[in-house]
Amino acid sequence: MTSTRRLVVITGASSGIGAATARAFGTRGYPTLLLARRAELIEALEVPQSMARSVDVTDRAAMAAALDEARERFGEPDLLVNNAGVMPLGRVADQDPEEWRRLFDVNCLGLLTATQLVLASMVAARRGTVVNISSIAGHNVYPNHAVYSGTKFAVNAMTETMRREHAEDGVRFSVVSPGIVDTDLLVSVSDAAIKQSYEATKSRLDGGLDAETIAETIVGLYELPQDVCVREVVIAPTSQA
Ligand code: NDP
Repeated sequence: MTSTRRLVVITGASSGIGAATARAFGTRGYPTLLLARRAELIEALEVPQSMARSVDVTDRAAMAAALDEARERFGEPDLLVNNAGVMPLGRVADQDPEEWRRLFDVNCLGLLTATQLVLASMVAARRGTVVNISSIAGHNVYPNHAVYSGTKFAVNAMTETMRREHAEDGVRFSVVSPGIVDTDLLVSVSDAAIKQSYEATKSRLDGGLDAETIAETIVGLYELPQDVCVREVVIAPTSQA
């Protein structure tokens, strides 16, 4: 290892909250494994001490291979940030069922896979942290958000269950639930009218929080002593009702 800081793994590191989190840990001297399908975007971030790999979180073998490579170079992961997510919105009556599948595959199954792949070594080390990015839509429901909200409610339930399962192993689990953040998340919305109305809400909130604010929140809860676990943070623009 080139530093005493332990390995941080971030999924969905190519843009938005994931890219900001990669920069926040990289500039603090943490070695990072940065995963997303568009590895060229991660490489362009020029995060020091980072390994960028093109990995779809729905591809277990690719994720396992990237983790093995990072372990060789940096040691065992001490923090996993399950951030990769998509938000195709729509009414259940009209939405393409392929979008439902993608939502659960990426937002839920990808998170479970990554977590399973790092848990054994964390349990063996009796330390480690998993931060799962949920959403305010994991607490509240909104029209057009049925399946997205469903995935984020599931993220909250799964995270709290895993926290209880591993509390005595010394492994921390946290959920960070942002309100509106200024990122590219809307690219996955295929319905033009829904996208437009969401954009209008965003502009009423001056675009929403900066991704850096969420990144700093993740760093803050991770850097607390290992025997302190922030179970959940809900963080939104003050003017978001
Ligand atoms: P972005 O669209 O900017 O980032 C999403 C990231 O997820 C990208 O890096 C993308 O990388 C990655 N991703 C998507 N699908 C896959 C996949 N199959 N495999 C690997 N990576 C994937 O949006 P945000 O930064 O806003 O989103 C990050 C998280 O924050 C999501 O979980 C989202 O639900 C959550 N969130 C966002 C809010 C907001 O207002 N922006 C509010 C609440 C929660 P690539 O395309 O290169 O694979």
